[in-house]
Amino acid sequence: MALAFDEYGRPFIILKEQEQKTRLRGLEAQKANIAAGKAVARILRTSLGPKGMDKMLQSPDGDVTISKNPLCLLVPPPFPSASCPTQAYFFNDYEIGDGTTGVVVLAGALLEQAEKLLERGIHPIRVAEGYEMASRIAVEHMEKISQKFEFSITDAEPLVQTCSTTLSSKIVSRRKRDLAAIAVEAVLAVADLERKDVNLDLIKVEGKVGGKLEDTELIHGIIVDKDMSHPQMPKRIEDAKIAILTCPFEPPKPKTKHKVDIDTVEKFQTLRQQEQKYFDEMVQKCKFALLMNGSGNKMVIEETKRSIHDALCVARNLIRNNSIVYGGGSAEISCSIAVEAAADRHPGVEQYAIRSFAEALEYVPMALAENSGLQPIDTLTAVKAQQVKKNPYCGIDCNDVGTNDMREQNVFETLIGKQQQILLATQVVKMILKIDDVITPSDF
Ligand code: ADP
Repeated sequence: MALAFDEYGRPFIILKEQEQKTRLRGLEAQKANIAAGKAVARILRTSLGPKGMDKMLQSPDGDVTISKNPLCLLVPPPFPSASCPTQAYFFNDYEIGDGTTGVVVLAGALLEQAEKLLERGIHPIRVAEGYEMASRIAVEHMEKISQKFEFSITDAEPLVQTCSTTLSSKIVSRRKRDLAAIAVEAVLAVADLERKDVNLDLIKVEGKVGGKLEDTELIHGIIVDKDMSHPQMPKRIEDAKIAILTCPFEPPKPKTKHKVDIDTVEKFQTLRQQEQKYFDEMVQKCKFALLMNGSGNKMVIEETKRSIHDALCVARNLIRNNSIVYGGGSAEISCSIAVEAAADRHPGVEQYAIRSFAEALEYVPMALAENSGLQPIDTLTAVKAQQVKKNPYCGIDCNDVGTNDMREQNVFETLIGKQQQILLATQVVKMILKIDDVITPSDF
């Protein structure tokens, strides 16, 4: 670094190029990115499942966010080096909705396993390819163990129950039943059941500071978030026609300069009346009404909006494809067994990565067990033994119900969501493994 002066005597600093940035290449680059990804996963691991912990974040201006959703915790990222994978989660959350913590936990596990493989001298591309093969095996196997979930418009109760399960791990669990019913009613209102599709853009989740969670309601229509222009305006209008104006609603002002001489009270009153009449006519031409709605605290509202969005996605996924897989880590354990068996059939180096993928899948049930106060390895071994012997629906009994059979516990997730979780975690890890040059300005 050197201090220099320009022709007017103004000082400026010359930085040598090498000093401006630090550069990591090859294995060093992969290790740095893996460490960042693992750090994110370590933080979010304790959030997974019905007994998962919430995280609290305080912004510099004092705003508090309490959530377990990785998106609001990581974007804007408290971990700059980890922002790239988290952006990937961000862009895909809207599609999956529920299941983001699961993606982060699985991605973290895959990264941990990848690190071991790289240390054993296996090329990152080989690891990425092995992971890709394994993810396809897992996704296909998931299809095999999936079951059909029956519901109809007239009997939407099973859908409500599913959304209610999604909400049970969230802050809003107190009102999970009501919110689930609202989410299902909203989705069914816009669903195209023939084409098996739901356009979630047609559903808007709005939050208002002040009310209670119980005040949440579904409005079949449009909410225009506006204050009343006058306190005496009617608060409720039935069958209202609404005009949305994108221009100011006031008598037009003449563009030319003009002067009005008023020398008597009468003249002033006449002018006022004239203006009033003009305005009345404008109102008569487009009678309009505004629709209002009110609802706690900013932090709870934001979390409620995210939770409702998750429930909406679950209902939408079930309408698109009514296949489900059982939860509590049962699907992951079953896939892990299938992937492990497939590894033996692969002669190439990829078999190591495939085997590691199988091991990574077990991190999900282990995290669920750990978060529920159970011994992770013992619990996983016992459940895995049950799976090999009996059925692929055995998972972690997080709520101490007394059975490991997730069919009996009615804990399930949509097949689409679960498959997307695995594919997304794999893509994120592949993306990280393919970066072999990291250039960072040294000030950061
Ligand atoms: P995500 O953001 O990934 O959905 P959650 O914190 O909602 O994270 O946890 C989802 C995980 O918890 C899934 O693996 C799901 O199968 C599991 N899970 C949810 N409810 C139960 C339950 N009652 N018993 C066991 N596992 C459960």
